[in-house]
Amino acid sequence: MITIDDFNFENKRALIRVDFNVPLNDEGEVTDATRIEAAKPSIIKVLEDGGSVVLMSHLGRPKGSLNPKLSLSHIVDTASETIGVNVKFVADCIGDNVRQAVASLESGEILLLENLRFYAEEELGDEKFAEQLSEWGDIYVNDAFGTAHRAHASTTKIAAYFSGRKCFGSLLANEIIAIDKVLSSGEKPVTAILGGAKVSSKITIIENILDAVDHLIIGGGMTYTFIKAQGGEIGDSICELDKLELAINLLEKAKAKGVTVHLPVDVLAASEFSNDADVQISAVDQIPSGWQGLDAGPRTLEHFKSVILASKTILWNGPIGVFEMPNFAKGTIAMGTYVEKATKQGAFSLVGGGDSVAAVKQFGFADKVSYVSTGGGAMLESLEGKTLPGIAAILN
Ligand code: AMP
Repeated sequence: MITIDDFNFENKRALIRVDFNVPLNDEGEVTDATRIEAAKPSIIKVLEDGGSVVLMSHLGRPKGSLNPKLSLSHIVDTASETIGVNVKFVADCIGDNVRQAVASLESGEILLLENLRFYAEEELGDEKFAEQLSEWGDIYVNDAFGTAHRAHASTTKIAAYFSGRKCFGSLLANEIIAIDKVLSSGEKPVTAILGGAKVSSKITIIENILDAVDHLIIGGGMTYTFIKAQGGEIGDSICELDKLELAINLLEKAKAKGVTVHLPVDVLAASEFSNDADVQISAVDQIPSGWQGLDAGPRTLEHFKSVILASKTILWNGPIGVFEMPNFAKGTIAMGTYVEKATKQGAFSLVGGGDSVAAVKQFGFADKVSYVSTGGGAMLESLEGKTLPGIAAILN
């Protein structure tokens, strides 16, 4: 894998595709600079080598037209503060103004281009647009994991113009290494914890990771489709009735591949889908009608704990209860403490894809696991076994 560390940027201009798609409040202020922070190591590496940096990113979904609310000018101050170097800005990403700004850029300086998605050509993966962008750097660095699953001009098509002069940034390289550890090179036993609302959104992931894991822990709303499929009484719990056969199929596939599947044995059942509902502990396959399972029960958590603490590699995708409601967040928080403990004991733990990332951040586990992925959709597609176009474009 060719990374930014394989190049010396002295007197070179690095054209870095970053993911500065940060949340803004109504005043246009950045409310979470995590993504800017994440791109910092690559930017600093180029500057320390004695090079200059041209940054390109998208922000929001302007759908090919100029939308002042989604101008990257809003993030310039935060980017300067976060990176610790003054960031210059040019109000376009192609054309003469950009050419001038790039030409006057000196070593040690950073220039941020305007939102790429002000041009429809970006998302269309337009070759001409990619070629225009490619003029702004000597070496192309892709450090935007969050958009690596999109075949856009700046993430994929552009790489063709940098034969022998393209690489992964530190962030993207770390994401690739973390995924590889879980899917192919992880120390055994490898355990995947899959939670979340629906089986339907996780089918391809389950099928793909069965080849990589020794243990599969299933939790969250997905549980009830599996329990119902096996003849259990799930009351009013969330269930996908059209996926019952598929659930049985997945369990049989797991068995055939020697994967041990761990489903909840008890749940915290609620009288309604509300934080203030009445609750009772119920066997997972004997939930009374009118009640619904919203979190894992104590015996389940004890069992999951023993599996997690015995694991050397852990993937966690999806909360195991309705963590947005404090009364049903305890199972997900407990799982966080088990993953934290396993990590302290030397296990590699990756949290990625969707709501589990939100949950570990909310409950303070983000710096207690080995790696928290920065890309929702890109992580999910990686776990599904797909080759991401942004990654393939650097490797080709
Ligand atoms: P996903 O995006 O598929 O990872 O699903 C995450 C969502 O699943 C979160 O919003 C959780 O509240 C929800 N969830 C987890 N457990 C349950 C459950 N037992 N019943 C309903 N929703 C759940």
